[in-house]
Formats: sequence, C-alpha cells, structure tokens
Amino acid sequence: MPASAHDPIYLDHAATTPIREEVLEAMTPFLGRRFGNPSSTHRWGREARAALDGARERLARTIGAKTDEICFTSGGTEADNMAVLGIWRAMQKKGRPACVSTPIEHKAVLGAVHQVEAEGGEVRMLSVSGDGSVDVASARGVLRDDVAVCSMMWVNNETGVIQPVAEVSRLAKEAGAIFHTDAVQAFGKVEIDASRQQFDVLSLSGHKICAPKGIGALFIRRGTPIDPLMHGGSQDRGRRPGTENVAAAVGLARAAELIVAERGHENERLRRLRDELERAILERVPDAVVHGRNSARAPHILSISVPGTDSESLLMALDLKGVAASGGSACQSGSVSGSHVLKAMRVRPDLAGAVVRMSLGCLTTDDCVRRVTEVFPALVAKARSMAGSAAS
Ligand SMILES: *Cc1c(COP(=O)(O)O)cnc(C)c1O
Repeated sequence: MPASAHDPIYLDHAATTPIREEVLEAMTPFLGRRFGNPSSTHRWGREARAALDGARERLARTIGAKTDEICFTSGGTEADNMAVLGIWRAMQKKGRPACVSTPIEHKAVLGAVHQVEAEGGEVRMLSVSGDGSVDVASARGVLRDDVAVCSMMWVNNETGVIQPVAEVSRLAKEAGAIFHTDAVQAFGKVEIDASRQQFDVLSLSGHKICAPKGIGALFIRRGTPIDPLMHGGSQDRGRRPGTENVAAAVGLARAAELIVAERGHENERLRRLRDELERAILERVPDAVVHGRNSARAPHILSISVPGTDSESLLMALDLKGVAASGGSACQSGSVSGSHVLKAMRVRPDLAGAVVRMSLGCLTTDDCVRRVTEVFPALVAKARSMAGSAAS
C-alpha cells in the first residue's frame, strides 16, 4: 500500500522497532506446535534444544564470537545489570573494589553502577566533552589496578555519538580490569567483531533491531569472571537460570543476521536521510542546535534543541502533525529533571529542556523526511508561542 500524506510518521526507532516479517516467521513455529522445553530429553525437548543451540550459534557468528560466549537474557537491561553487577561481584572478591563508568550511560548501566556503590564498591566516572564523547584522557587516571569492571556504551542512545571503545578498552585491559560495552544502539550500526579484542563483555537487545521486546544477549568472553544475578536451574551453564525463551532467541538470531547482512547499504540510506533531515531543519530554523554534531555519530539519531521552546511543546506539536519523536530517551519521558546525557555535556539548561530526538530506521523513507521538514518551521512557531504563553 503506498504511503498516504496523512500516515503517521514514526521517528523513534531508538526507543523500539517493529518486528520484521522474516523474524516473526522464524519464531512462529516455537510459539505453536514446537513448544518443547529445551531441558527435556524427549523429542519435543530435543527439537527446542536444537533451535536454541542454532540461534546461539547464528547470533555468535554475527559478532565473531564462539557459541558458548553468548548468554540469552530478557533484554538489554538484564544484560547490562549482569555485566556490571555480575562482574563486579566476582572481581571484588579478588581484591578489586572499584567500578568505572560514564555519566552518559543508559539507566540500565547507571542503575547497576548505583547498586555497586550500595554494595560497598567505589565508583569513578569518566568525563565527557561538550560534543558528547567520553574523554579518553580522563580514563588514564581512574583505570588503576583496583578496578573490577569498566563499563562504557558504544553508541549513545540520545545523541548517537560513537564512543572511543577501542582506546578505553585498551586502558582497562592494561589495568587488569574487565571492559564491558552496552552495544544496544551500536549493533548493526558499527562493526562489532569479538575477535578484534576490543571488549570482554557486550550487551545486545532484540527490540532495537526488529526482534521482539523481552529478549537480549550478553557476550561473555571465555574466562571472564562473572557471578549470576539469579539462582535456580543450570540453564546456560548456570550463568542465567530459567527456561529459555526459545522463540524470542530464534527471532533475535534472525534479526541479527539480517541487520548485519544489510548493514552497509542500510546505514548509507539512514545517514543520507538523517543528514538531509538535519540540513533541512537547520536551514529553516537556523538557531537550532544539533548535539554531538562535531563527533562521529551513528547514522540513525538526530538530537536537536530549538531555543525558545520546550521539549513537551515540540513533541505535542509534532504529534498533532502525526510525527512521533521523543525528548531524549524513552525511559525518562514524563520526568521533568531533563536529560542526564545533555547535562554531562554541559548543554545550557534552556537548550537541554528544548530537545527532541528523532531516530530513523526501517520505517523511515524520503517521504517521511520531506514531510517532517515541511511542517517543522510552523510547528516551531507554535511551540514557541506555547512556551511563551506558559511562561507568562
Ligand atoms: C534500549 C536500551 C537499553 C535497554 O534495553 P531493553 O531491552 O529495553 O531492556 C540499554 N541500553 C541502551 C543504550 C538502550 O538504547
């Protein structure tokens, strides 16, 4: 069906993505008659086990990992918690009480780091430049031989800025620490290859790459000390007890294969669309500010502030025109405290409060970009008058 001029426009792919047809197709048998428990020894069980093993092997191959280095989780949040808390707990027993991270992490990592502190760990944060990238020099002083784990995301979910993973990872290794990276927004956008030794542990999430919500994975390099978060059965070598979500694991593996196979072409397409969206908005609203503009960015995120407005008015005006975007990350929408990422970048508070994040993906076409840029100036005027009347 051709898109109509009135179809709503989804520009929030960093919050979540639709499940792809091929992914749903791969999953369907395991939601139906192939329902076995992979731990059972009869034919139903063996069939489910084969599907789960196959999914693990195929997902491993997309990041150059070995099959036993993949642990399926309930999503990115669990993977991040398992990495930060699980590794810290295992390493602090070896006399390493410190944990290093950054102030621009997703709440899944920041929450886990907070828990490390509550359990007696010493937390040190790296600093961030005004352009949204972690300052490698700040890692030199803090990555000492008492550090258990260093966690730094690969691509920031609010700005799209690509972080210096190779450099910080090398400093972490030199200090004998384990390096974790949250690659939820990076997967399919940057090249991820475990054999290049840039990370020890890496988090993925299904629903950011057109697989279902509630499935993710943690790559754990062989030999990495990690305590399980949950206790129970011996599934996944005891790292993650509980009956495995076979259908979702199969879906995640299929989505991963597709996104990696299409990476070159799709990233080129998204970059062209994002750059055009950015150019056209800046042409029509010259005082708008693009966050992370001078840093290397993943191709799917545009974070932009419009002076004299506020996020809520902008998002409401966009929504009235059928455009779905977000103010920063989905997890903090509804909160009034503002983005911790923009704060770490020392963005002026009035600008930080006037940000919209538009994130592109499989649903984004030339037509979407054209329609958004057409309505943008009028909508900024409207948001400015709303902000003005709210202030008076
Ligand atoms: C979405 C996201 C997460 C959380 O993943 P869930 O599967 O939703 O739990 C973690 N980190 C980043 C960077 C994300 O964008």
